[in-house]
Amino acid sequence: MNSGILVINCGSSSLKFALIDTVSKQEVLSGLAEKLGMADSRITFKHGPTPRRSYRQPGEKDTAALAGGTHAAAMDAIIERLREEGLLDSVKAVGHRVVHGGEVFKATAMITDAVLAQIEKCSKLAPLHNPANLLGIRTAMQQFGDLPQVAVFDTSFHQTMPEHAYLYALPMSLYRDHGVRRYGFHGTSYRYITSKAAELLGKPLEETAFVCAHLGNGASATAIKGGVSVDTTMGLTPLEGSVMGTRSGDIDPGIIGYLASELNLDIAGVMDILNKKSGLLGVSELSSDCRELQEAAAAGNHAATLALDIFSYRLAKHIAALTVGLGRLDALLLTGGIGENSAYVRANVINRLGFLGLTLDEAANQECTRGKTGRITVEGSVPALVISTDEEMMIAMDTAKLAGLID
Ligand code: AMP
Repeated sequence: MNSGILVINCGSSSLKFALIDTVSKQEVLSGLAEKLGMADSRITFKHGPTPRRSYRQPGEKDTAALAGGTHAAAMDAIIERLREEGLLDSVKAVGHRVVHGGEVFKATAMITDAVLAQIEKCSKLAPLHNPANLLGIRTAMQQFGDLPQVAVFDTSFHQTMPEHAYLYALPMSLYRDHGVRRYGFHGTSYRYITSKAAELLGKPLEETAFVCAHLGNGASATAIKGGVSVDTTMGLTPLEGSVMGTRSGDIDPGIIGYLASELNLDIAGVMDILNKKSGLLGVSELSSDCRELQEAAAAGNHAATLALDIFSYRLAKHIAALTVGLGRLDALLLTGGIGENSAYVRANVINRLGFLGLTLDEAANQECTRGKTGRITVEGSVPALVISTDEEMMIAMDTAKLAGLID
């Protein structure tokens, strides 16, 4: 292999990576360093379908404690494993996921000092994410100083939204002077699934009108016309829109002041409730995890059923609302851990959308799990497609293109 791209997705306490062969389009080696900064930090490696060493099994996984427990230690361990596997020299460029690119980054960018400074400026819009992304970039630059480094932004895909979709009805000075507008997220995933869906439906992407929902621990939905985002549910931050694992999604903004005064909390205290204690977790008082809630609901737990119902009902409302930006609906696309696996939530959403021409195929819905791509609506219905997303592949292909490795 001579065309590897190392993809880095760096969080504050985790570092996810994947080495992708841009010719075979296969993940050769991937992994996750977790609990960085803690005493029990560890790193897991997973080998792809065709490991380089004969003593490795396809898909083999191993986990080890990570001495040092820092981001730099994680990067050292990754480099060491790449060397052991004879893969280090195949790395030709490094692609980084960056959450917030503000209005500056309308596309993927080659990282330069000026780009780093701009990403830093965007940190105030994503204080939990961008500093961690920057840490990943700086660590990789130290280790792979000679290779091109590329930033792929979650927000850039949504830069095509029209003004009437991205502006809040707030004083315009807040937009002009402080960048307060809707940015949207999950853009890399949306780009990937829309091009897959166009392929599956045998239509040029330019002629498609999709509502797409990326449903994982974070959840959003987007209207995509002709391959470009025209509206999305997330806003200035990834808190707006759909109900999520621990995030509230849309609420009456009046609740913020009310809670501050009732509970004697400062803004950080209220935001902590909205970001970390709400959503599926807040309603169920049990778990933020969809699978666990499904099990509890099956065992008769009312709060778990209610949490999943609120999640599904709100999402169905958002999907219907997003069709306004499209004028028609060619297909509904579902992805993310919940979208790809939860037949329960998919049924709960699609069964509310009959008026948009969607009719669930129960059997197909039950069958479509664990990375299977397929149609879960009956013949004659507007199609609902489950598509397994691959943000790492998208980042790798973007990086390879910008680094001049592929056309
Ligand atoms: P992600 O953030 O994309 O990894 O998605 C995480 C979410 O997907 C969690 O709420 C999981 O419970 C959910 N999930 C993963 N597998 C399943 C499954 N088989 N059934 C239902 N939910 C699932």
